[in-house]
Amino acid sequence: MKEIYRGKAKTLYEGEDGTCVMVFRDELTAGDGAKRAEKAGKGSINAEISAVFMQLLEKNGIKTHFISFEPPDRHVVKRLRILPVEVIVRNIATGSLVRRYPFKEGTRLEPPVVEFCLKSDEYHDPMVNEDIALALGLVDTPEELQEMRRISLKVNRVLSDFLREKGILLVDFKLEFGYDDEGNLLVGDEISPDTCRFWDADTGEVMDKDRFRRDMGSVIEYYREVKRRVCG
Ligand code: UDP
Repeated sequence: MKEIYRGKAKTLYEGEDGTCVMVFRDELTAGDGAKRAEKAGKGSINAEISAVFMQLLEKNGIKTHFISFEPPDRHVVKRLRILPVEVIVRNIATGSLVRRYPFKEGTRLEPPVVEFCLKSDEYHDPMVNEDIALALGLVDTPEELQEMRRISLKVNRVLSDFLREKGILLVDFKLEFGYDDEGNLLVGDEISPDTCRFWDADTGEVMDKDRFRRDMGSVIEYYREVKRRVCG
C-alpha cells in the first residue's frame, strides 16, 4: 500500500476506490512527541475500541469517516481533507485546563467546556478563538466552528451515556474533523484511550494515556480493561 501520511501513532495508506487504510501502531507519545514508548498490543486495542465508538456515533446519526474495521489493527476510512483544528470537550476539569486556569482539579463542568486548538506540535497546540482560526485560515467561516462545536457536544452526550453504562466516566476527549469529497463535515481520526480521559466510575482510577504521561504504570493493562468493557 502507498503511504500517505505517518503520524505519531497511526499510518495512513491509500486504499481502494477513494478510501484510506489507517493502521494503528503500538507507539505512544506524550508532550507533543517529546516522550515516546512502544507498548505491544496498543495499536490493536485502540483500533478495536475506536471502531466501536465510531459505529456508535454512526448509529446515533453522527457522520464519521469510518467504513470498516479490519482486525487486528486497521480501519478502512473515507479520505478526508482534515482541518488543522483539534476540538476538545471537557466534562471534568483536569490536565491543561487546571494548569492554565484557576479550575480546581476534578470539578464537574456543566455545561461541558469546548476548546478549539491549532493542531501543531511546534506551537504546542495553542487554543484559538474564532478570530484566530479565521485569520490563520484554519476554517473559512465561523459557521464551520459552530458546526464542529454542535457535533462535538452531541458526540459527548452519546459517548458519555454509553460509557456510564460500562462504569466509565468520560472526563474529556479530543476530536478531529475533515471534509469528504462531497463537502460533508465528518468526524475523523480516532477515539481511544490515547485521545480521551477515562476514569473508573467507582474508584476514580485513571484508565487512559495519562498513565503513560504521568508514569503511573500498567498502561496496557488499563487499555485492555477499557477494551473489555467497551467491546464486551
Ligand atoms: N488530547 C489529544 N491530543 C492532543 C491534546 C489533547 O488527544 O494533542 C486529548 C487528551 O487525551 C485529553 C483531552 O484531549 O483527553 C484534553 O487534553 P489536555 O488539554 O488536558 O491535555 P494535556 O496537556 O493535559 O495532555
